Amino acid sequence: RNLKRQMPCRVDIDRLNTPFIAIYESLIPPEEEKAKQKQLLTLLQRLVTKEWPEGRLFLYGSCANSFGVSRSDIDVCLAIGDANINKSDVLLKLADILQSDNLQDVQALARARVPIVKLMDPVTGISCDICINNVLAVVNTKLLRDYAQIDERLRQLAYIVKHWAKSRGVNETYRGTLSSYAYVIMCIYFLQQRRPAILPCLQEMEITYSVTVDNIECKFYDQVEKLRKFGSRNKETIAQLVWGFFNYWAYRHDYANDVISIRTGSVISKREKDWTRRIGNDRHLICIEDPFEISHDLGRVVDKYSIKVLREEFERAAHIMQDSPHPCESLFEPY
Ligand code: ATP
Ligand code: MG
Repeated sequence: RNLKRQMPCRVDIDRLNTPFIAIYESLIPPEEEKAKQKQLLTLLQRLVTKEWPEGRLFLYGSCANSFGVSRSDIDVCLAIGDANINKSDVLLKLADILQSDNLQDVQALARARVPIVKLMDPVTGISCDICINNVLAVVNTKLLRDYAQIDERLRQLAYIVKHWAKSRGVNETYRGTLSSYAYVIMCIYFLQQRRPAILPCLQEMEITYSVTVDNIECKFYDQVEKLRKFGSRNKETIAQLVWGFFNYWAYRHDYANDVISIRTGSVISKREKDWTRRIGNDRHLICIEDPFEISHDLGRVVDKYSIKVLREEFERAAHIMQDSPHPCESLFEPY
């Protein structure tokens, strides 16, 4: 491992830039998809307003965080100011309303971990999940979207990493691997660590945006249009960054002691967070701090079996990036 740790990047790395950029571009959704999503959101908002005049709909997740691929389902949050509402009642009422407006496959999943109403809009063909008052997800979506506007290399890296994770079967939280949200956070962290840095730490800068959600203060610098040159002193290319990302998670991350934190833009110790032992189902085998719910380890879904799978996949990817004659194909081979 130590040998590999010191290993320099392959000399022909930059011939991989063109194919990686091509993969990235093929994954970006076309503009007309955004228009269709807006159209559906407008329709839904009209239906919601009739029943809950104060209710507002927000997009969150990959349809709004700029890391979404083509033809994904959209995630919508219905925010109702009143904290005393009964979520199941609202959910069932909402399902009723949607059903009577000819939306298809309407289904209320009131008992799910995150209770939602599912539906399909026959006009736009878009499927959608609506949750109630999950405002923290709307705010962390904004944080990710704001980071994406600072340097295009974040979007490129995150699309490639997500595409890799989906192809290799390690983007399945119900099977103990990581969420897309966790992977994007890992990419942000990695780019904050480059020297010169490619991304700043927005939560450590002057506060220009601040909301309190579920007693959590979410605040950060959001005038990101002023940061468009932030990473320009760093000339690393996407191929070098993909190599570096996998190299980091395969050989350089200290799984025993470290927690990655985009909130602080640095690594913090497991001991400091008291994440050194298993508590309930939280095993802390790979530690990724949520930027706002800081007691929340995004790696908590990972168990003693899936950590092996995950680390072997990081090592496989690092190895391919180092040695394979055609990394852009081998990397994404279905598992
Ligand atoms: P995909 O393209 O795979 O659908 P996604 O961006 O929608 O990716 P998900 O992991 O499905 O990502 O999560 C959707 C949203 O839900 C995230 O953007 C985030 O706002 C929120 N979210 C997901 N997991 C967590 C979590 N563990 N803690 C807090 N928020 C989360
Ligand atoms: Mg999603």
